[in-house]
Amino acid sequence: MSTTYHQHEHHEFLAASKDALRDGNLQLALLNLGDTLGARNKQAYAALPESDLLRERARAIKDETLADLATHIETLEASVKRLGGQVHFADDGADACQTIIDIVRRCGGKRVVKSKSMTTEEIHLNHALETAGIEAVETDFGEFIIQKAGHRPSHLVAPALHMRVADAQKVLSEDAGEELPATAEDLAAYARRRLREKFATADVGITGANFAVAETGTIVLVSNEGNARLTVALPRVHIAILGIEKVIPKLEQLPVFLKVLARAATGQKLSVYTSLVTGKRRSGELDGPEEFHLILLDNGRSKILGGPLRESLFCIRCGACLNACPIYRNVGGHAYGGVYAGPIGAVLTPLYDGLVANHHLPHASSLCGACQAACPVKIHIPDMLVKLREQLHAEPGELPWYERLAYGMWARAMRSPLAYRVSTWFATRTIGRLNQSGWLRRLPGPLHGWTAARDFPAPARERFRDWWDREGKEV
Ligand code: SF4
Repeated sequence: MSTTYHQHEHHEFLAASKDALRDGNLQLALLNLGDTLGARNKQAYAALPESDLLRERARAIKDETLADLATHIETLEASVKRLGGQVHFADDGADACQTIIDIVRRCGGKRVVKSKSMTTEEIHLNHALETAGIEAVETDFGEFIIQKAGHRPSHLVAPALHMRVADAQKVLSEDAGEELPATAEDLAAYARRRLREKFATADVGITGANFAVAETGTIVLVSNEGNARLTVALPRVHIAILGIEKVIPKLEQLPVFLKVLARAATGQKLSVYTSLVTGKRRSGELDGPEEFHLILLDNGRSKILGGPLRESLFCIRCGACLNACPIYRNVGGHAYGGVYAGPIGAVLTPLYDGLVANHHLPHASSLCGACQAACPVKIHIPDMLVKLREQLHAEPGELPWYERLAYGMWARAMRSPLAYRVSTWFATRTIGRLNQSGWLRRLPGPLHGWTAARDFPAPARERFRDWWDREGKEV
């Protein structure tokens, strides 16, 4: 795949997908995704008899919470302040980055350590920090590798999914200045050595959050590595940034999400580390930050909340829909162009970055429903993609003239029994009878795109209506 798709966001889904399909390395990296993460998700749901009810419950909590989100955010703000933390509201990515830079500068910070956070990817925080002269160190193993490689994450929970062990070994060997052994364990040991030193000298730790509990002011971090805990515990200042939709009202609701999140993401019953961070270090405590800042990011979410695609805010970023999707499993994450890939990315990127600019994404789906079946909160992703397609087709100038003409003629024919009969008679007497194989290998003009990668079924040799009459059938 072109290096720029690995490195930069773009609006070229079709070109990037073609590159991805030709990229042998990427294809090898994606080869077993359906049999590993995809299959584990199904097995984990099947092994938990009440998983369906839990997923319904998780969905209902999200729905109820969003119905009164402003109140829950106010409660969260009050809880965090009560514990001595500070709360900042950011309208957009630039606002959030500036707030973080101001906090880091005020405490004289030069280096920050980060645990994995898609929200920080969404606001391009690393770039903003570097521009401000602040070193940002990714401490999740996958993020560490792709930061060294200069890549973007290609998966919500496995950011280096597009790389194989040999690719990681090459990148980390360059970083080490020596040939590292090509085993995942040795490479992880190298990352651990490098990162310990960064943890020990970082001024600020930045995390995202999987959930924020309004009634207690608790930030919940779910991970399979110990880096999130070190990011919170070692530096003097902790900044957590999350989208406003991550709020849940009560602590008693958290287990519902923890049970479905791990099962959906990796097939685990529970992730290895679930950290509940409630406020800064209190007197007598041995570790923890002296300052805690919570940044609540809007970045278009309030607008989505009042619109027809509100359900996209239910997403808990587990990545299960990516693993289940036949499109993602073939083209990987970078082809989608935005921060969020896969089926949910095909919904979120048009919402955050503009529908017309990302007009291919709502069509990057077979609408097979595998994403919805895998989703721990049962988001109706196919319905949302269809809604986006409808919105797109209502955009003036978005459809080429020949498609408008074709759809217009089709609609007319479907409304007129006579036109329908004539058109089907014509199709069967021409292409239907001339074609022997039953398949059209090449369509003309603007239709050729369909047959560039697959055949098109030819019209039947005889209309159903004619067969019915010939057989003397009666209704
Ligand atoms: S849409 Fe559902 S399956 Fe996809 S990442 Fe979000 S929560 Fe997970």
